[in-house]
Amino acid sequence: MKLYDLAVVGGGPAGIASAVEATVLGLENVVLFEKGANHSTTIRTYYKDNKRVDKDWRGTKITLEGHVHFMDGTKESTLELFDAMIGASAIKTCFGTEIAEVLPNRPFEIRTTSGDLYLASSVVIAIGSMGKPNKPSYALPTTLQTRINFNIDSVGCNETILVVGGGDSAAEYAHFLSDCNAVTFTYRREKFTRVNPVNESIIKHHAGIGKIRLKLGIDINGLRDEGGLVAVDFSNGETEIYDRVVYALGGAMPLDFLRRCKIALADDGKAIYDENYQTNVAGLYVAGDIATRIGGSIAAGLNHAYKIISHIKAAKQ
Ligand SMILES: Cc1cc2nc3c(=O)[nH]c(=O)nc-3n(C[C@H](O)[C@H](O)[C@H](O)COP(=O)(O)OP(=O)(O)OC[C@H]3O[C@@H](n4cnc5c(N)ncnc54)[C@H](O)[C@@H]3O)c2cc1C
Repeated sequence: MKLYDLAVVGGGPAGIASAVEATVLGLENVVLFEKGANHSTTIRTYYKDNKRVDKDWRGTKITLEGHVHFMDGTKESTLELFDAMIGASAIKTCFGTEIAEVLPNRPFEIRTTSGDLYLASSVVIAIGSMGKPNKPSYALPTTLQTRINFNIDSVGCNETILVVGGGDSAAEYAHFLSDCNAVTFTYRREKFTRVNPVNESIIKHHAGIGKIRLKLGIDINGLRDEGGLVAVDFSNGETEIYDRVVYALGGAMPLDFLRRCKIALADDGKAIYDENYQTNVAGLYVAGDIATRIGGSIAAGLNHAYKIISHIKAAKQ
């Protein structure tokens, strides 16, 4: 069976960059596994068409260290950049291939959910944190399934929509949807504390001109089906009826996957890793959002990748 120098699990920005950096820095046999039908499932799923993509996302300035020349752009230009980088490299891509576990033997045994086995000397896990969107603590009525969303992929126009959340995704959803919908944006705190300055000013501007209605400092107690529409019971006793509710509450860490790979976890449920993003298992690295304690960004993932591959390369010399 072929032994790869490097296997990368997850074909988002951090995984693609890991594979690209590996080929640039001279690792010869590199395989990239992505469970989606193409790379960058998170970007394809959660970014609206033509979404602005910021390099210094959430206002965090990052100097890129590696060979992926990512800059401010759009969803489309970002996907084109990754297409071009994969196309120009000798990476073996396995799209539509979900990895079930990485067994911490040397070489590593990488098992797909359909039972195939691959071997690699080093492995980067870059599976992101968006696999499972966080859900509210209250039960969501099953009859309202088509009226409750965790992204804005299938949301159309001319609806009354409640966007729930306090981060940049929620702010961007509210902004996009307000183009052709009546949007109320609700957050349980009085002020936005997790939104970058650009998004905050956009939201305030849109609230000021009446394009977005803000409902801050109020929690939601639950949702009910009111004749096929969504009745939202707020903690201040008010009930409002919406055509649709969109939640943007972040993503849960794919803990089970990390546990199956025998990666030690900290109290916050995130992987423990060293300055090179190497976990307790020598040769097994984490990159991207899964290796970020708060938030995460494309640029941060690209730098993780460069650091990891430089470390693998140095260890081989
Ligand atoms: C609405 C929204 C707007 C954003 N805007 C920006 C922005 O403007 N600028 C910015 O820098 N960041 C932005 N971000 C954040 C950015 O998208 C993430 O930080 C980035 O995508 C993380 O990259 P990643 O490679 O770590 O993970 P991801 O992009 O989540 O990629 C992980 C990949 O792994 C795959 N995968 C998961 N499990 C498996 C498995 N078991 N086997 C195989 N494949 C698997 C997934 O399908 C996915 O393709 C935004 C996020 C959201 C949700």
